[in-house]
Parts: sequence; structure tokens; C-alpha cells
Amino acid sequence: MQTALAQDLHTKQDVKPIWDGVLNVLREEISDVSFLTWFKPIEPVSLSADTLTLSVTSGVHKNMIMTKYYSLIESTLTGATGKNYQIEVISVEDDAPVAEQSVPATIGKVFNPKYTFENFVVGNNNSLAHAAGVAVSENIGSLYNPLFLYGGSGLGKTHLLHAVANNAQNLNPDLKIMYVTTEKFTNDYVNSILSQKNNKKSIQDFHDKYRNVDLFLVDDVQFVGGKDGFQEEFFHTFNAIYENGGQIVLTSDRLPAEIPKLEERLRTRFNMGLLADVQPPDFEMRIAILRNKIQNEYLTVDDEILVYVAENIRSNVRDLEGAVKRMLAYASIRRTNRITQELAEQALKDIMTVTKKKLTTASIIDEVEKYYSLPKGSLVSQRRPKSVSYPRQVAMYLCREVADMKLPDIGRDFGGRNHTTVMHAVNKISEDMKTQADVEKDVAELTENVTKN
Ligand code: ADP
Ligand code: MG
Repeated sequence: MQTALAQDLHTKQDVKPIWDGVLNVLREEISDVSFLTWFKPIEPVSLSADTLTLSVTSGVHKNMIMTKYYSLIESTLTGATGKNYQIEVISVEDDAPVAEQSVPATIGKVFNPKYTFENFVVGNNNSLAHAAGVAVSENIGSLYNPLFLYGGSGLGKTHLLHAVANNAQNLNPDLKIMYVTTEKFTNDYVNSILSQKNNKKSIQDFHDKYRNVDLFLVDDVQFVGGKDGFQEEFFHTFNAIYENGGQIVLTSDRLPAEIPKLEERLRTRFNMGLLADVQPPDFEMRIAILRNKIQNEYLTVDDEILVYVAENIRSNVRDLEGAVKRMLAYASIRRTNRITQELAEQALKDIMTVTKKKLTTASIIDEVEKYYSLPKGSLVSQRRPKSVSYPRQVAMYLCREVADMKLPDIGRDFGGRNHTTVMHAVNKISEDMKTQADVEKDVAELTENVTKN
């Protein structure tokens, strides 16, 4: 274990300069956009006697490399090293929690190095889960045991689970860590029972494998209910690890109390430590996540477009990530790295889930008056103090930019004002949004309020 790890570190150090050399040559051969899109994000993993292993974050990316760039990489590498290598590309999606597939349970290698605390964006919706994750990774078995992370799909539970593993492993390379999905654990168990006829030791092997770990991470325990034999076995595994001072971290899409057909003794165990939730991201968090994902992709995106995406994709982080990937793919097809509004709309038209509510001047005026705590009717009155005129301009802006109404119609509904007044208001707010964060925030929140169902 120790030597394997040392060796692993060794190859990592070796592959980096070689890969950098390859990149330097490739950069001259292909367009900037292709380079930034397809090559810059590649993570070199290792270089063995005959294989260069590269890692990418999506299946799309892997396909591009394998189909379009394989021979270019191969020949450049041969040029740089004087030797022939095969290129192997692994995609994080291949074995990833993202695709909700089971991951082979081999101690020490199964968790995904891409999912770390460093690249996990923390906000109100997940700060407890994040803090608890960091805490247990630094204090194995002694703080919250088990740590039970729960929340809807695509909100970062699996990411956190791997981050706990990565951090714990960095702090203590000798730690025995097991990451497993409920499904994988069940299959392993069933297989060991089946093969016991031929091999008396198989169930013992199963116990040795699962009960001697320091950090046991189980993804998606909501699936335990009703699985024959599983709950019994899992209960004993849990107890063995717990009694040895090991740390257990579980994820689930719901609370223990809500998992159907969960045996009482397991429910009690799950509730014994800390329950920490992850909630859907609010507007600010969605913006923060988009910024974070985009910053890794070498794209130029204006703030208005981030707002547009954050307003339209509200479900979860996975979908926000999907949106960034789509924009990236469109940008690369068009050989640009600048995302315009038009490009974003094209890229996202199939995944936008919102059904546009029919907006009226009355409903917008109503929301804006509520937002600024103004008496009803203030915005359509002829009064012009700043306390009223700024909200009025914001309301006009929303009518124009969000509800797409005509300038004269807006003027008419705001107490019979001229369309040039409306135009002036729209321009003013657009300008102010660029320079004043509070204006941008007001508009973003109001847009959310007026469009939500
Ligand atoms: P879950 O297991 O809750 O269904 P995942 O952990 O698989 O969700 O997250 C889905 C995707 O969203 C992953 O690619 C993950 O990296 C990303 N993600 C989720 N939450 C965050 C976050 N707070 N910061 C950065 N990326 C996140
Ligand atoms: Mg998951």
C-alpha cells in the first residue's frame, strides 16, 4: 500500500513536465479555442512504460480526444519522448457518482480526486454539510459519527463524500478508506454468499474487506429498504467499524425517518451522529457556482448572462454544470470563447425548464412596490422623489427587459408617461447594474420574484 502510493506519486511527478511539453507543441498546432476547450482542462494522471493516462471531466470531452485528437497527441508525445505510447483517457463520468453508477470498492483508489473541498462552493444551502464534512475528515471517528448527509439529487452529496475521503487521505496516507454505493455493497455481499459454495472463505473475505476500514463512505443509503440480507449485513458492518473507532459517512436523498422499510435498529444508528442537509442553491449561490464552473473553463461570460442562466436554471448544481458544459460545447463549435446572450439562449433552449408566467405591468408594479415597501399606487402616481423614482425605473426596466413589453404600453400603464421616459429609465438601470452591485441585486431578486410561479 505504502509503496504503491509512493510509486503513484512518483509517476505523477514524472508525467507533469512531459505533458506540459506536449501541450507546448500542441498549442502551436491547433486553434486557441480548441486548445483551451479540449487540452487545457486535461489532467495528466500517469505515464507508465507504455501508456499515458489522461483524465477529463466528461464523456463528451473523452470522445473528442479519442476520436479527433488521439493521433495528434500520440505523435506529439512520440516526438517529445522518442518512444511510442498508447493514450488512455479516463472520464470522471466513467466511474462517477454523477452518473449514479456503482464504483468498484477497492480500498484507496475509488474516490474521485476531482471532488475536493477546494472546488466545492459553500453557501447558505450547504454550509453545515460542508463544515461537518471537513470536521470529520480531520477528526476521524471522534466527532460526528455517523455523519449523515441528506438532500435532493444533484446538490453535492456525492461530491462532499469524495471530498471527505480526499482530505482524510491527504492528512493521513495510511488511512484505510472505503467508498461504496449501497448497490455495490449489496452486490458484493450477494456475490460472496453465492460463491461460498465453492469457496468457504468468501464471506470471511467480504467481512475482512468491509469491516477493517477507518473511513467508510456509503453513498445513497436510501436504497437500503427492503433489500434481503442487506440490512442485517450492513448493521454488523456498521457496528464493527464504529466499535473500532472508524468514521462512517452516509448520504441519502431523505432523512432516516423517511427511508421506507428501513429497520429500526439501522434507523437508530443513522440518527446517532449528526444529520446535515444540503438544500437547493438560492440565486446568489447559483451565480457563485456558475462563476466557479466557468472560471475553470476559460470562457468569457458577462454578468447579465450569468444572471440569465441563474434565473432560468434553478433546480440543482448538476443542471447548472450541464448548462456550462453546453455553452462550452457551443462556443467550441463556433470557435469562440465569448458567450453572448444569443449563444447562451441557443445552447440552453432545450434544458430551460421554466414555463414563462404571463407577466403584466400590474403584477410587476405590485411586486416592486412590495419589495421597496412602498404604499400601493406609488409607482403610477406623479410623485417624483428619489425614494419612488428609482423603484419606478426598476419596474419599467423589468417590464421592458423581463416581460418584453412595448415602451408606449409601459408608459401608459405607469400613469400616462411618455415612451422616452421609459426608455431613459431602462437605459439608466442597465447602466447602473454594471456599476452598482445593489442595483444588480435588486433587479435579480425582483426578476426572480416576478417570474416565479
Ligand atoms: P448528489 O450526490 O447530491 O446527487 P453530486 O455530488 O453528484 O450530487 O453533484 C452533482 C454535480 O454538481 C457534481 O459534478 C458536483 O461536483 C457538482 N456540485 C454540487 N454541489 C457543488 C458545489 N457546492 N460546488 C461545486 N460543485 C458542486
Ligand atoms: Mg450522489
